[in-house]
Formats: sequence, structure tokens, C-alpha cells
Amino acid sequence: MRKPTDPLARLAGRVDWLELVMGFACNCRCRVCSSGFLDPQVRLSNEELATWLERGRKLGATKVWLGGGEPTLHEGLARAIERARSLGYRQVRLQTNGLRLAYPDYVAALRQAGLTEVALSVKGWDAKSHDGMLRREGAWELVGRAAANVREAGLRLEADVLLTTPLLPHLPGLVEDLARRGVERLTFWLVSLHGAPDDDAVTRLVPPLGGLRTPLRKAFARAEARGLAATSLHTPPCSLAAEDHDRYLHSAKYRLLVVVPGNAPFLAQESPMEGGEYPVEPCGKCAVRKDCLGLRTDQLRLFGAAGLEPIARAPRNRAAPPRARRRA
Ligand code: SF4
Repeated sequence: MRKPTDPLARLAGRVDWLELVMGFACNCRCRVCSSGFLDPQVRLSNEELATWLERGRKLGATKVWLGGGEPTLHEGLARAIERARSLGYRQVRLQTNGLRLAYPDYVAALRQAGLTEVALSVKGWDAKSHDGMLRREGAWELVGRAAANVREAGLRLEADVLLTTPLLPHLPGLVEDLARRGVERLTFWLVSLHGAPDDDAVTRLVPPLGGLRTPLRKAFARAEARGLAATSLHTPPCSLAAEDHDRYLHSAKYRLLVVVPGNAPFLAQESPMEGGEYPVEPCGKCAVRKDCLGLRTDQLRLFGAAGLEPIARAPRNRAAPPRARRRA
């Protein structure tokens, strides 16, 4: 009888980061998030968390990323962090809306468990815009307190900023604000319709790739002036200014394995969120195609390839991007 093949065998030696989507429960109802339609009861059990942490180490991962839903609603979070550190993970990253981190004792407990860094999700530029996007009054104030508590605890502070149409003109001011709050690293994420409600109100939040170049140039320049590392996800090089091409984060470079409750695990670059479409115009003559994940289907459906030109030459520093721009 043939021995069954291990479904994870294809991943051996290909994983640095393990992302655990701890569950779909959330204490916000973001207008663009799929967690709002998913069953909040669905989550990784404490046993599953322990098992995946062990599997991740066996596959070679040394960094773990705890996300959701909202991971701070999982009662096993501190235990999972402790477990990760005892298994030898060097970095433990918590990606969170920050509401629960407004309480210093909770931050101290996570630090004690071994947490190393926090990435706060930022979806607006002030209380009105952020609270409106999260549909949670007071969220902006709480995320501000969270930032202060994370810094006070000596943890590394990052911000994952969601790029939406209304936010783009406010990006430079937001970068300044986040720098003042002690954020060390920024990642700009382009909003997607994948998994989000397909209604006009949400569609209007999606900016065309061809309209990102100037606002992101201003934001990157402001980040550089303030000494912040800054990169962007889901923004192919043709949507960025030439000097920003090496800020594009190709998700395969994370070597990130994603574990979602109730689903088969997958590598980040295999997600439809990442792109996957290479229309002849502009991709046919593009010099960086092999280093690009292409365009998302929602972008093509909404905007085609308007404003995007093929890249004539690969950036010279792609093989060795400036250290400050790399994701650790
Ligand atoms: S391969 Fe296509 S999507 Fe990627 S940078 Fe080139 S033109 Fe843009």
C-alpha cells in the first residue's frame, strides 16, 4: 500500500514566517473587511495553535504573525505567544486594531509572554475617518493609547495603513502623526474588494492603481524625512514612482505560510489578494514581470490598466534594497 503523502512536504524549507489567523471574531465592523460576514465562532483552537506553531518550526519558520479577525479576542493569545517563544520563534508579531492594547496591563501581560512587536491597523487619518471606517466610536482614541502603551512596554511599533480613496490626500499628515506616536515602520496596504461587500459604497473606497503614484511618493518622502522604514503591498512597481519601485513588497519574499481556520494552509503569494493578472498592456513588455505579482482582478474590473506603463528597466538596487526598507 502506498504511504499517503504529507500535504505540507511541498513547503519544507520555503517558510520564514507563519501567519496564524486566530479566528474571525472582531470587536469592529470595518466597512471593507470580510470578517464581518464570517462566523465569529470559527477560530483556531488552543490545540490547533500549538500544533501549527510546532509545524511552522519544523518547516523552518522563525517568525510568527498573529492576526485575525481580531487576535486579542482569543483567550489563548498569551499562551500562544509563550508557546511560540519556547519553540524558538525569534519574532512574534501581533497585527491588531489596537482596542484592547489601550489597557497597559494587557500589553504588559503580552510582553511578559514574549511578544516582540505590534502592528496597529490604521484606516483613517483622524477620529472621524478612522472610527467611521471601523464603525466603532472611540477607536481612534484607543489606538492612540495603544501606541503609547506599546512604546512604553518597549515593544517595536509598526502601522499597517489601509490605502483607500479618501485617505490618499491625507497620507503625508498621517505619516507625521504616526512618526510622532513612535511608529518605526509603515506598510501601506491597498484595499481590495476580495471578500468585501460588493456594493457601490465600498467600491468607491478602492483607488485605481494608476492614482497611487503621487500620494505614495509624498508619503514615502515624508517617511524618509522622519527616519521611518516604509513599504507598500499590492502596489505593483508600475503604480509607483521610479524611485519607489524597490518599496514594493512582493509577498513571496516574506516566505509566509498563512493558516486560516477551516481552510488548507497556503503561501501568501498564492492568495487572490496578491494579484495574478498580467494583461498584455502593460505587462507584455515589462522588465520586472518576474518580480511582480501582477494586477488584482478587482482593479482590472473597475479601472482596467489606466495610468499604468510597463517598467523599462529593473531597478538596480532590487537585489539589495536599503536595509531600512526591508521587512525584517
Ligand atoms: S508586470 Fe505588469 S503589473 Fe507588474 S509592474 Fe509590470 S506592468 Fe505593472
